[in-house]
Amino acid sequence: MKVVRSARCSLTLATRSKRLVLREVLHEYGRVVNWFVGKFWTRKWTKGELLAKNIVVPGTWLSARLRKVAAREAIDMVKAARERDGEWARKPVHHGKRMHVSSTIAGLRPKREASAFDAWLHLSSIGRGLRMDLPVKFHRQYHKLGNDPRARRLESYILTEDSVQLAFALEVEPPRRTGPEFGVDTGMNTLAALSDGTLLGTDMRTLVTRVRRCKQASLGQKRARRALHQRIAEVAKEVVGLNPRLLVAEDLMLLSHGRTTQRRVSKNLRRSLGAWAYRDWLDRLRQACETNRVRFEQVPPAYSSQRCNPCGHTERGNRKGEDFRCRACGHTDHADVNAARNLLDRFYGREPNPAREYGPGFQREGVGG
Ligand SMILES: [Zn+2]
Repeated sequence: MKVVRSARCSLTLATRSKRLVLREVLHEYGRVVNWFVGKFWTRKWTKGELLAKNIVVPGTWLSARLRKVAAREAIDMVKAARERDGEWARKPVHHGKRMHVSSTIAGLRPKREASAFDAWLHLSSIGRGLRMDLPVKFHRQYHKLGNDPRARRLESYILTEDSVQLAFALEVEPPRRTGPEFGVDTGMNTLAALSDGTLLGTDMRTLVTRVRRCKQASLGQKRARRALHQRIAEVAKEVVGLNPRLLVAEDLMLLSHGRTTQRRVSKNLRRSLGAWAYRDWLDRLRQACETNRVRFEQVPPAYSSQRCNPCGHTERGNRKGEDFRCRACGHTDHADVNAARNLLDRFYGREPNPAREYGPGFQREGVGG
């Protein structure tokens, strides 16, 4: 089984003028992607149609090769937006902050003499006959993957103004067949509440609060974020360290930009980790599972925190902070553990149906946002 891992490396050792050129390229790339999005929004295109005559964009100096990359990205963006939000989809916008290219545009080249950086990132075929060599500084993750005999570097580069993400294909073993199965619920107080009652990462609130209290984009906030990120990675390791064969978590689709979900989600997120940390956590957890032979699945989390696991009665009042007390059957539990059990049961489609057990109309009572 193959999975893709990426290592973010720094481009900040490049001269100011080179970085200005890079910024200009990204900006123009974004403009061209948006031009294509406008074109593909009204009529669906396939990648097979991207012939030279179809990718002429007014007023751009980007090469045909890069215009083709932009067109492909636009097709993917349109497709993703339509799949996610259907008829409610809004036209996606590229902000010109990142560009995903392959060996036709970029390549890594060894440096010749001793220096503060590790390699050159060579860019060509950008347009206007532009060629650029940017000094790349490898980070820990690059060395880790580079030294892993199971990993092979791919010709895939995600460029931003100050970084390049290098991708590796990693050969991993299939999930194990023995071991416990866990549902895992994510909350502000406990990062991972497992369906067997285990609570991991119970120190999240302090770390999240520190990020929020710091001034936006300040050095202090950067540090606080790094600490949070590190702790998230540790907890992901602790979870897979229990050697489960299956982990069922919430579905990230919840964070889509759909109109109806947006409000509800943002409310939940304000109460909890914040979108950035939440995404980071689920990514970490999935990756830790992939490399440690754990099957990772996700289910929609709707009402999982309000629903009584044994009887299925769903009511907002069932939950008070960390305590769960069912108003129908009196069952009590840690609220996050109850939610984790619901996620696991949802994966197996074995949630109880209260309407069946208590008569029709029962579930409707008290169900809310
Ligand atoms: Zn109950």
